[in-house]
Amino acid sequence: MSSTQFSFDLDDARFVLFEQLDIVRHLAGIDKFADFDRDVCAATLEEGLRVAQEHLAPVNANGDRQGCKVDADGNVTTPAGFREAWQALAAGGWVAPHGDPELGGGGVPGPIHMALVEIFSGANQALSMYPGLTAGAGRVIQHFAPQHLRQKVAAKLLSGQWGGTMCLTEAGAGSSVGDNRARALPTDVEGVYTLEGEKIFISGGDQDFTENIVHLVLAKTPNAPEGTKGLSLFMVPKFWFDDDLSLGERNGAHVLRIEHKMGINGSSTCVLGLGSRSPCRGWLIGTEFSGIEIMFHMMNEARMGVALQGLATGSSAYQYALHYANERIQGSALKDLKAPNAPRIAIVGHPDVRRMLMTQKCWVETLRSLLYRLGLRLQLAESSNDEAAKKKHRAYVELMVPVAKAAATDRGFEVAVSAVQVFGGYGYTQDFPVEQVVRDGKIQSIYEGTNGIQALDLLGRKMRQDNGALFIGWMQEAQGILATAKKNGFEKQSESISKAIATLGQSAMHIAGIGRARDIDGAMVHAVPFLEAFATVALAVEAADQASVAKVAIDASGETNRLRGKLLNLDYFVGALLPHAIATAKSITSGDRSCLDPALFSLEH
Ligand SMILES: Cc1cc2nc3c(=O)[nH]c(=O)nc-3n(C[C@H](O)[C@H](O)[C@H](O)COP(=O)(O)OP(=O)(O)OC[C@H]3O[C@@H](n4cnc5c(N)ncnc54)[C@H](O)[C@@H]3O)c2cc1C
Repeated sequence: MSSTQFSFDLDDARFVLFEQLDIVRHLAGIDKFADFDRDVCAATLEEGLRVAQEHLAPVNANGDRQGCKVDADGNVTTPAGFREAWQALAAGGWVAPHGDPELGGGGVPGPIHMALVEIFSGANQALSMYPGLTAGAGRVIQHFAPQHLRQKVAAKLLSGQWGGTMCLTEAGAGSSVGDNRARALPTDVEGVYTLEGEKIFISGGDQDFTENIVHLVLAKTPNAPEGTKGLSLFMVPKFWFDDDLSLGERNGAHVLRIEHKMGINGSSTCVLGLGSRSPCRGWLIGTEFSGIEIMFHMMNEARMGVALQGLATGSSAYQYALHYANERIQGSALKDLKAPNAPRIAIVGHPDVRRMLMTQKCWVETLRSLLYRLGLRLQLAESSNDEAAKKKHRAYVELMVPVAKAAATDRGFEVAVSAVQVFGGYGYTQDFPVEQVVRDGKIQSIYEGTNGIQALDLLGRKMRQDNGALFIGWMQEAQGILATAKKNGFEKQSESISKAIATLGQSAMHIAGIGRARDIDGAMVHAVPFLEAFATVALAVEAADQASVAKVAIDASGETNRLRGKLLNLDYFVGALLPHAIATAKSITSGDRSCLDPALFSLEH
C-alpha cells in the first residue's frame, strides 16, 4: 500500500457491515442467504479485494492513457489488459456478484454487493463499468424478456459470456428521455421489430471481451403516445441468435464513433447506429409502452451503482492522500517555524493537511455507512419475510436513493479534488493516480440522471409521496438513532443534529408553500440546495450511529485508533460540516429568487 497503489479500507467496511449494521442478523431467515454467515461474507470481501488488486488496479492507469479505439466496422478495441481482467472476473463469478447463482451470478447479499462495487470501481472505474452494465441488463432480461429467451440470455450475461448495455440517450433526448426519436416497426414475426435511429453516449456499446453484446434500447413504436408513456424497450443483439442461442448474422447495431472524453477512457462511450449500415432487429421486452416502467424497476439499483462509484472515487482518493501525507517530507512543525535547522516533518503533521484529511475521512466513512445501509434496506425491501417491514424498507429506499446518488457523487468528487491538494504539485501530474481519479469521477454527477434531476425527483416526487410520509418516516428513524446516541453519551452532538433536522423540515415546509402557490420554478430552484442540506444532515445521523456503536465497543473491549476515529468523526461533523447544511437550509427560507429574473442570462444586454 502506498500513495501510488490502490488500497481499500477493509476494516472500515467490516465495521459498517458487521458491527454497525449487523447485516448477518438482518439477513438471517432469508433462505437464499442461509450460507452467508459472517465468515463467508468476510471471505467474499477479501477475495473481491484480491481480484481487484490483482486484475483491475494494475490496468487502470494504462487504460486511461491508451483509451479505446474503433475500426471501420464498428468493432472496439479496449486498452491492453482489459480483456484478461474481464476473463478473470467472469471466471470467478464477479461480473454479477449479486445475480442469481443458477444463472451464473454470485448470489451475494445486497450490502456485500455494495462493498464489492466500491472495491471494483475504486480499483478501476472504467473497467468496472462493463460488468456493472452487463449485470444490470442481465437482470432486466431475466425478468422481462420474452419467456422463451429470459433465463438463457440472462445466464449468458450474468456469467460474463456476453456483454450488455443500456441505450436511452439520444442527441435530443438526454435528461428528457421522453423525447426519444428511435423508431421500432413491427415485422412479420411476433415480438420482433426493426429498429432505426441513433443512440449516443452508450457505455460498453462495443468491446472485445465477449462473443456477443445485447443492447437494451428504448424506442417508440408507430402511433406511440408522446413522452415517456410512449416508450418501449427492445433487446437488440450485436449478433442475431436462434432460440438455442447459437450465433447468426451480424445485426445492424453498429458503433459509428466513440467519444474522446475527460476520463474513464478505458470505458468505450459509443454512438450506436441502429439500422444505419444494415437492418437492425430486436425483440420487444415486456409489453408495448412499458419501457419506462421497466427502467423504473432497475433505476434504484442503477443509481445506487453510480452512488457507489462516487464513494469509490472518494475512498480511493482518501487512501492515496493518507499514504502520501505520511510519506511526503516538507517543512517543519509550526512551533519550529523560526528554527531553520528544525527537523523536517511528514506533511501529515501540518494542521491544514490534517483538516483536509479529516474532511475526506468524514465524508467517505459516513457515505459508506449510508450506502451500505441503503444496500441492506433494498435487500430487505425485496426479500424480507415480513410484509410490513418490506413496505418500510421500500419507503426508505425510494426517498434516499436520489439523495445518496447526488451526495455520494458530489462529495466523492470533492474528496478527490481535496486529495489532489494534499499531494500539492505532484497531485496534478500523472506520476500519481489522484489526477485520474478526479477526471474519472466527474461523470458520476452527470450520468444515470444528473444530480439536478435527482434533486427534482426528491423534491417533486419523493417528498410529496403519500403527503410527505417518506420524509416523516425518515425523520422518525433518524430521531431514534439520535436518541440512542444520546444514551451513549453524545448528548450535545445529538441535540445539534436534531435541531438541524428541524431546520431541514422548516425549509421543506417553506418550499411546499411556494409549490402550493403554484410557483413551480420558485419551488424547484431550491431543489439542489435542499438535497444537499438533506444529505449532509443524513450523513451526520450516520456519524452519530457510528459513534454510538464505537462507544459501546470501546466500553466493552477498549479503545483503538479506529474506534476513537469514529467518535472524532462525530465531533468534526457536528462542528465543521453540519453548520453548512444548516446555513443552506436557512438560505432556502430567506426567499431569494434572484436567479429567476428574466433580465439575467439572456445573451442580449
Ligand atoms: C461517459 C458517459 C457515459 C454515458 N453512458 C450512458 C449509457 O450507457 N446509456 C445511456 O443511455 N446514456 C449514457 N450517458 C448519457 C447520460 O446519461 C446523459 O449525458 C445525461 O442523462 C444528461 O443528458 P445530456 O447530456 O443530454 O444533458 P442535458 O439533459 O442537456 O442536461 C444539461 C444540463 O441541464 C440540466 N437539465 C436538463 N433538463 C433539466 C430539467 N428538466 N430540469 C432541471 N435541469 C435540467 C441538467 O441537469 C444538466 O445540468 C452517458 C454519458 C456520458 C458522458
